[in-house]
Amino acid sequence: MSQRKIVTTCTRDCPNSCGLIATVEDGRLVKLSGDPAHPLTGGVACHKTAKYIKRVYSAERITHPLRKVDGRWRRATWDEVLDLVADKLKSVVAESGPEAVLYYQGYGERTALKLLNKYFFNLLGGATTMRGSLCGGAGQGAQNLDFGERVSHDPLDHFNSKSMILWARNPVSTNISLVKIAKDIKKRGGRVVVIDPARSMSVNIATHHVRPKPGRDGCLAMAAAKLILEAGAEDRDFIENRAEGWAEYKAILDSFSVPELCALAGVPVTDAELLADTLMNQFPTSILLGWGLHRHEYAHYAIRPIDALGGIAGILGVSGGGVSQGFEEYGPYDQAWWGDHLHPDHRTLLIPRVGEEILSARDPEIRMIVVTAGNPVCMAPNADRILQGFNKAEMVVYSGHFMDDTAELADIFLPATTFLEEDDLMASYGHNFVGPVNRAIEPVGETKSEFQMFQELAARFPFALQYQRSADDWLRIICTPLWDQGTDLESVRKGPFRLEAPMVPYADGVFPTESGRFRFMTEFDPAALQREDPEYPYKLLTIAPHGYICSERTLAEHDALPTVVLNTAEAHRGGVLDGGHVVVRSPYGRLMALLKVDEAMRSDVLITERGGWNKAGHGFNLLTRDIPSIVGQGTPFYETRVTVEPCPQDGIIGSRVLVVQNSSQSPGGNFTKELARQGCLLTAILPTQGDPIPENADGYDRLVVLGGPQHAFDDQASPHFPALMRLMREFDRTGKPVAGICLGCQLLARAHGGAVWTLPELEFGFVRHALTGAGEQDPVLGQAGPVPPLMEFHEDSFDLPEGAELLVRGDSCANQCFKVGKASYGFQFHLEMDSLTADEWFDEFQRGDIDTYAQYRSQFTDEFFADTRSRFPLLIQQSADFCRNVAKNWLRLK
Ligand code: SF4
Repeated sequence: MSQRKIVTTCTRDCPNSCGLIATVEDGRLVKLSGDPAHPLTGGVACHKTAKYIKRVYSAERITHPLRKVDGRWRRATWDEVLDLVADKLKSVVAESGPEAVLYYQGYGERTALKLLNKYFFNLLGGATTMRGSLCGGAGQGAQNLDFGERVSHDPLDHFNSKSMILWARNPVSTNISLVKIAKDIKKRGGRVVVIDPARSMSVNIATHHVRPKPGRDGCLAMAAAKLILEAGAEDRDFIENRAEGWAEYKAILDSFSVPELCALAGVPVTDAELLADTLMNQFPTSILLGWGLHRHEYAHYAIRPIDALGGIAGILGVSGGGVSQGFEEYGPYDQAWWGDHLHPDHRTLLIPRVGEEILSARDPEIRMIVVTAGNPVCMAPNADRILQGFNKAEMVVYSGHFMDDTAELADIFLPATTFLEEDDLMASYGHNFVGPVNRAIEPVGETKSEFQMFQELAARFPFALQYQRSADDWLRIICTPLWDQGTDLESVRKGPFRLEAPMVPYADGVFPTESGRFRFMTEFDPAALQREDPEYPYKLLTIAPHGYICSERTLAEHDALPTVVLNTAEAHRGGVLDGGHVVVRSPYGRLMALLKVDEAMRSDVLITERGGWNKAGHGFNLLTRDIPSIVGQGTPFYETRVTVEPCPQDGIIGSRVLVVQNSSQSPGGNFTKELARQGCLLTAILPTQGDPIPENADGYDRLVVLGGPQHAFDDQASPHFPALMRLMREFDRTGKPVAGICLGCQLLARAHGGAVWTLPELEFGFVRHALTGAGEQDPVLGQAGPVPPLMEFHEDSFDLPEGAELLVRGDSCANQCFKVGKASYGFQFHLEMDSLTADEWFDEFQRGDIDTYAQYRSQFTDEFFADTRSRFPLLIQQSADFCRNVAKNWLRLK
């Protein structure tokens, strides 16, 4: 076995940009761990890195180009898709001008070479691009007003802090380098205060948790500032000699009392006292701003008073102090290579209103959209409008890894490499180091880097010679500001380089404003923060998940329904139950979710995780408002107000489904997830682990019996079978629909008198099937769309019971799906299969690890496994679509 260790850098949309060591054995990535040599991130990397390995080899990952033909994805060659894209770009530019093309560059990865993507569209003539931000625009705009230019303390300087205020920052989930610093401060006796309306994971490492009303943080900062002034502990030198606008800001402060400000902020006065005391008596305090602060229309009313509090408390320009927010990830490069100077007036669309802006664009209209490293249909607000905008385009080209919400709308899918398969450089928006991105493994399948895609696309245009260079040549060109600082490409390839940047910004007391002084906010309208709507009493906070970044989870990794968290008393008042189904409604849309209650939660918010896919039923951006922030063109996601209502418990919603799981390795997958998404209440039992089989169908409306490796005819080995078959008959007798899958299908046949017997060979893999005449007429199968190849994994088959109708026939094993009795359906194939189970079964069966089936392993060659795996993404997607339709139709059975 050969083993290699490669130094690289995490390029995910995360401020930590950790130095990583990738361990590769026999060409396969087996481990990602923190690089101990990285001066900031040290040997630490977050728990998400294990998921990256799974993502690279995920059965859902699209690893060859696809094009849509007649609404269905088909595999294509690179030449085919690049020709199609180039031809369409040429015809749209010739007919309507370059601005009829929209280039949407997402935030998914912001490496050095990705700078050149936009250059391509500028060479094309100046396509329409995006302006504004889905993330930090409002805060950056606000800090630029105060400081002239936002510059943050080097995170290593926080080791000099005596206390720390994590203001809407959640380092445990999104910035782990700060965790060790916070712990160090605590160890030295300092306070670590988390200010966050939600109870983030970082509360666990804090000494205090303050929970203001969302968006009212500025009022809390003003209250603390007043207390410092009342104590005479303000930094007079800063106020008088380093700042401007003090008289106006003081007048704002004077127009409120501390209790009034605390009431506005929704906190007790003791919280403001805690902050003031920390800033006065645990000096210096570092204040770190998080991204939740940006997500308000008047975000500057939150951030500017916090900056001002820093000035009043004397922590600006002081080691261990500062009000820090972020860094410029494109700062170390020569941004002229974006090529914007070629078309300085080219059209831009406002990202917080991307759907509306696409739809209303005129002269020219948007005819073609190219998306890289982004999933706007899921991640941007008012998803329904974005969907309409994308649907209006004649061609959508998507480059990425998975068939997410945006990819689903595309016509061309360009499969991209991950950073583990690329050579590049990575700067950070969370610190001052530029790290190497060194290829750890060969690109999986036919994937290509965005750099390579655009190089090959450019070869089809007259500007090819201007654009085509090797990656190293381009890095040597676009990173000249970096080389001017005394390093070179070869050195950065070996490890991170610290940019020339101050450890402590503004240490000389001079700010890059016109006057050289800090600028206090001079106007404040509290009414702007106090808009309420009794019909929608909760602010919806879609916070960063702990386990994933943005929308990067795969379809199979989504739970059946998203979870929302509400204050216990509010839940009681609204008549919604802990663990129950609820409908979350905003003026823009509605979504079903599971409710969790929390006594410690503020009563005016509803909290959930962001990034879940619309197609998985987790699309909270179907509910969000699409307005820009007043400052900085950010996206005020948290200006969405919602109400939470009980699900109407009638018909399908509230239908009680008993799920009998015959093996822990045969979960209900897409079938039971779809039932839950339609509002069914599922009760699962595992008889093999001692759960009793109910005597009758009382208390349930439907029954699902899943698969397992047992023989359906072997009651001795599975003594629960007779009772289970009796129950299946009982459900049918009382007119309650039954679905049996694989083993469940064989048991259904046997329950109604059909014999079960062993096949001469194992049937395994994705197999083609056809509807019978009866199947075409059947309300469950006939309306479910064409039957795609479906996963098989069984050694037994059965005779059809008397009176049963065969609905789907297979070539080698005929009886694949039948209906018997009043409403009982048997599915021999695994229509419920999702990518996680497919991956596991293929892996284990290929290795011969599943004892029950080891004898059949020699039936299948390694080529069979490799070929099927290369087709996994489409096979699994088609199977999932079919399963969803079958489940919905089965639910309609009365
Ligand atoms: S996601 Fe963030 S914390 Fe985790 S490894 Fe990547 S950069 Fe580090």
